[in-house]
Amino acid sequence: MTTKYQAIKGVKDILPAEIEKWQFMEKTAREVFELYGFSEIRIPIFERTEVFTRSIGETTDIVEKEMYTFSDRSGDSLTLRPEGTASVVRAYVEHNLYNPSSVAKLYYMGPMFRCERPQAGRYRQFYQIGAEVFGTENPEIDADVIGMLMRYFERLGLKELELQINSLGCDECRPKFREALIEFLKGKRSLLCEDCQKRFERNPLRIFDCKSTNCHEATKGSPTIENYRCEGCKSHFDSTLSYLDRLNIQYAKNPKLVRGLDYYTKTAFEIVSKGLGSQNAIAGGGRYDKLVEEFGGPPTPAFGFAIGMDRTAQLIQPSALSLHASAPHVFIAALGERADLKAFELINVLRQNGIRGERDYEGSSLKSQLRKANKFGVKYTLIIGDKELDKGKAILRDMSSAQQDEADMERIVEIMTKKLRER
Ligand code: AMP
Repeated sequence: MTTKYQAIKGVKDILPAEIEKWQFMEKTAREVFELYGFSEIRIPIFERTEVFTRSIGETTDIVEKEMYTFSDRSGDSLTLRPEGTASVVRAYVEHNLYNPSSVAKLYYMGPMFRCERPQAGRYRQFYQIGAEVFGTENPEIDADVIGMLMRYFERLGLKELELQINSLGCDECRPKFREALIEFLKGKRSLLCEDCQKRFERNPLRIFDCKSTNCHEATKGSPTIENYRCEGCKSHFDSTLSYLDRLNIQYAKNPKLVRGLDYYTKTAFEIVSKGLGSQNAIAGGGRYDKLVEEFGGPPTPAFGFAIGMDRTAQLIQPSALSLHASAPHVFIAALGERADLKAFELINVLRQNGIRGERDYEGSSLKSQLRKANKFGVKYTLIIGDKELDKGKAILRDMSSAQQDEADMERIVEIMTKKLRER
């Protein structure tokens, strides 16, 4: 008996019917990010496990429960990348990408892997587009890069997004806040879920991120980082917000926003969509001023973000895709053997001249070929039968108005190029 295989739980195929959205996201990212001076970097799919454990943090959910870690044949512990920043930092230090006279700006895109409980909007292989800037602490960069991200979503036609922003402080002020939070939660420890009981001592800020209602209740009225930020962090945050104001970018301050990765210092943000269910964050990021040093590089402040492509794809409307449409430009309907041969040649001539074409390979009736043409969403169909062949002509049918004109076969490339330019 043959076995019918299925993709692994939480892992999916991206089928041709959806691929346009994905190409649209990728193409638009390249266009927008390159306008802001970013260059692409392609990082490996797997790394030594320490690259992730050291940067993301030993006590985060990602490292504790979600990484796909395995030993290779020489016994080294390797991990499929759960995110991109750690690898970009590793590459930045390894290849001395420091740019003393200016900042370095890099972007990446591709699959990430986390062994999470699969649900709508949460997959085990998912896709991110990310960007990182190295070499400045200037809050202008925080605002500029968030601005780039908002422009990107605008270009995708996304609406009803909310930028939530916080500053998580630094090594100087965050420990004080951590202590105050532990002190506050001490008496409520029994209310916390099993995971948060563990987080309580090891990583109490993460309790803010827990979805359990009891944990949510327990943190009500708790101290927040707002009252603990040092002067430096306070002024950095205020400046970031004022630069966002200058860019006309609306935001909501969320003092309980923490991220699932421990490397963030100062600015942390998320973009949430009102059009999604409980997994509503479509991008997140922030500042990580210590990470390059931890990877053995020189002190290099940095800022970055990652966009969740799977969730973003869900929000893209077909109308936003029209400019990027990959529907064939022309359908060729051939009637009879001679016409079929002509269509075979003609479609290739059109393609050589940059015009996409589709046709029917089944020798179907004209009616059914026109139905197919409509399904492809073409604006024009060229109809060829024996009569047209004898005259050296084709019938050019405008699919929306059903108007038909004769077109000279000799001049067909020229005619179609002109018509398609008019669209
Ligand atoms: P993070 O790397 O955790 O900061 O996530 C950045 C973005 O990636 C999130 O806002 C999500 O949109 C997306 N994301 C993270 N984890 C998953 C997942 N398991 N499935 C789908 N998207 C994800």
